[in-house]
Amino acid sequence: MKQKIYELTSRLNQYRYEYYILDRPTVSDVEYDSLLRELEALEAAYPMYALPSSPTKAIGYTPTAGLAKVVFEKPMMSLANAFNREEVLAFDERIHKEGFHPSYVCELKIDGIASSITYQKGLYVLASTRGDGTIGENITENVRTIDDFPKVLKLDHDLEIRGEVYMCKDVFESLNQKRLQNDEEPFKNPRNAAGGSLRQLDPSITRDRSLSLFGYTLVKPEIYGVKTQHEALRFLENCGLPVNPHYRLCKNIHEVLDYLEEWKTKRHTLNYETDGVVIKVDDFSMYDEIGVTVKNPKWAIAYKFPALEVETKLLDIIYSIGRTGTIHPNAVLEPIMIAGSLVQRATLNNVDFIKERDIRKGDIVIVRKAGEIIPEVVRVNFDRREGNLSPFNMITVCPKCGTSLIRKLEEAATYCPNEACPGRILAGLIYFASKSGMDIEGLGEKLVEQLYDQGFLKSITDVYHLKEHRDFLVTLEGLGEKSINQLLENIDKSRNNPLEKVVASLGIRLVGSKVSKLLTKHFSSLDAMMNATKDDLLMIKEIGDAIAISFTSYMKANRPLLEELKQLGINPMKEQKNQEALIFQGKTIVLTGKLEKMTREEATHLIEQYGGNVASSVSKNTSFVIAGSDAGSKKEKAEKLNVPILDEEALIRMVEACKNT
Ligand code: NAD
Repeated sequence: MKQKIYELTSRLNQYRYEYYILDRPTVSDVEYDSLLRELEALEAAYPMYALPSSPTKAIGYTPTAGLAKVVFEKPMMSLANAFNREEVLAFDERIHKEGFHPSYVCELKIDGIASSITYQKGLYVLASTRGDGTIGENITENVRTIDDFPKVLKLDHDLEIRGEVYMCKDVFESLNQKRLQNDEEPFKNPRNAAGGSLRQLDPSITRDRSLSLFGYTLVKPEIYGVKTQHEALRFLENCGLPVNPHYRLCKNIHEVLDYLEEWKTKRHTLNYETDGVVIKVDDFSMYDEIGVTVKNPKWAIAYKFPALEVETKLLDIIYSIGRTGTIHPNAVLEPIMIAGSLVQRATLNNVDFIKERDIRKGDIVIVRKAGEIIPEVVRVNFDRREGNLSPFNMITVCPKCGTSLIRKLEEAATYCPNEACPGRILAGLIYFASKSGMDIEGLGEKLVEQLYDQGFLKSITDVYHLKEHRDFLVTLEGLGEKSINQLLENIDKSRNNPLEKVVASLGIRLVGSKVSKLLTKHFSSLDAMMNATKDDLLMIKEIGDAIAISFTSYMKANRPLLEELKQLGINPMKEQKNQEALIFQGKTIVLTGKLEKMTREEATHLIEQYGGNVASSVSKNTSFVIAGSDAGSKKEKAEKLNVPILDEEALIRMVEACKNT
C-alpha cells in the first residue's frame, strides 16, 4: 500500500505541475479528480504512509522563478468538491449537524485562474495569482490589460477582492485557430489558455489574449459592514466590478439542487466555461464556527458538473499532414453526440500520447469535448476491450509521398522531411492564402485544393499567375464572373502586404506571425533576410538555435522561389521614415554597464529608431559596444574581439549630428 500511495502522490504531483505551471495538462480533470479521491481514501486508511508532499494537502502550486512574489494576509484557499447530489446533501447535513440552518448562495464556478486584486483609495494597485495559497505571483501589469474591469472604482475604498480571470469561448477559439495556423500547439481549453496568458512576463502578450474577469470574494467584508455573501456580491457590483450575474440566494439545499439541475445544461449557452457551481453559506457570522481544513473552507463546496465525455468505438487511425510536415494522427470514431454536436473525428495528439495510453484500433475509447475546439480521445475503457487488438504502430512513411518519416529526439511530433511532399505543399498553399498568411479573401481551402488537383497551383508563386487561367476558373462551380474578378483583385492587393505578413505566409517551420514580426524589426527587406546568417539571427534576444536554423535553411533552399516572388511584385520593405535618418542601419549594437543619461530601454529604442539592432551578447558581428560605468564581461569580450567600444556621450553625439543634417 505504501508503494501505491507513493506512486499516486508522485503521479498527481506531476499532473499538478503540468496543469498549474505549464498550463498543459496531460490528463483530464475527471481523471485527475478520481485519482485524487483514490489517494484520499488510501491516506485515510493508512495515514502513516501519507507524504508531506501529498497533493491532498496542497493548494495550487509553489510559485516558480520569473514573476515577483506576493504574500497574502488572508490565504487563498481551494474548495472541496462534490461530484453528485448525494455529496451536496452530505455537505448540507454536516453543516446542520453543527447546529446551523443556513441559506446558500450558488455561483457559477468559472473555469479560469483565481486572482487576488487590491485597490488603494479606489485605485487599482496590485494583482496576484493564487500560487500555493499563501504566496502568489505578481501579475499586476498583466491584469491591467484586461479591459472589462475597472482600474478606478466607483467608491474610493481600500479594497481586496478575489476573482477569476478567464477567457471567453469565442476568444479561445480564434486564438487556437491562429495557433494551429502558425503550427503552434493549441491550448487544451480556455482555462489553460487563460493561465498561459496571465503568467506571461511580457504584458503585451496578455493584452493580445483578451482576458476577462469576474469578482466573487470581498476580503475583510466586516470593514464595510457587509454581512452576507449575497450582499458582498452586490457591494462588488456597486463598486463597479464585474460580477457574474447568474448567482442566486437559495433558502435551503433543495433550492440549491434545483439550481444545479438548471445550470447543468444551461451553462452551454454561455460564452465562458463553467465547470461547476460554488455553493457558499450566505451568512458570514457562521464561517468561524463552521471552520476550515488545511486546504478548504468547510462552509463552501464546489459541485462539479458531469464531464462531457462519452464512450465510442475507435474505428480507425488516419493521418493528416501539416504545412511544415508534421504528421497528425486522428481517430475515426463511430459517430456520437457530445454536448449537442455529432463527433466523428478526434485528435490523438501524437505517437507518445497513443502509446502511453495503449490506444488500439477497435477499442472503446472515451472522447471528450469540453471547451476544446477539437474533440480529443482521452483514454481506453480497458474493461470493454474485446478480442486480440493489435498494439498501435506509428506509420513509418508519409501517407502522401512515401518518404520515411523522422522524429527529432526532443520533440513529440513526427515529420515528413520531403519538402516536395504533395501533402505538405497543399497544406502550405492553404496556409499561404489564409487569414494568417497573405489573407486573400476568396481563395479558401476548397478552392486551393481544386486548383492544386488540377495543376494550376503547384507553388505559392502560381497564385500570382492565376489570372492567366481565367478560362479554367469560370468552369468552376460557384465561381461567377463577379467573384473571379473580386478574387483576382484580392490576389493583386496582397502584393502590397507588409513584410511581416509575407514572411509569416511562407510557412517556415517555427516562424509564425510572432517570430516574423520580430524578424521584421531587425531586417528591413526579403533580401536582408535572405542574406542573414545564423549568427545574425542569434543576435536577436528572443531567437534560439532551432528558429535560426529553420529560418536560414529555408532562405537558402528557397532562394529561387523568393526571387520569383520579388519579380512578381512581392518585395515589401519595412516601413522606413527617412533613409538619411537611419544612421545605425545594418549595425548591431550591444549595450553594457550603467548608462547615466538614459535607461537601457531608452537607449534601445533610440538605436532602433535610427535603424540599428540591439543584441544581448558580443560577437565578431557586433558593430560596436556602448559601455557605461561598471561594464563587465561584455566590454572585455569586445576588447578581445577588437570590436569598437564607445561611451554614452558618443551615442548621443551621433544621434544629434544626424538630427542636424
Ligand atoms: P478548485 O476546483 O478547488 O476550486 C477552487 C477555485 O474555484 C478557486 O480557487 C477559484 O479559482 C475557482 N472559482 C471559480 N468561480 C468561483 C466562485 N464563484 N467562487 C469561488 N471560487 C471560484 O480549484 P483548484 O484547487 O485550483 O483545482 C482543483 C481542480 O483543478 C481539480 O479538482 C481538478 O479538476 C483540476 N486539476 C486538474 C489537473 C489535471 O492534470 N487535469 C491537475 C490539477 C488540478
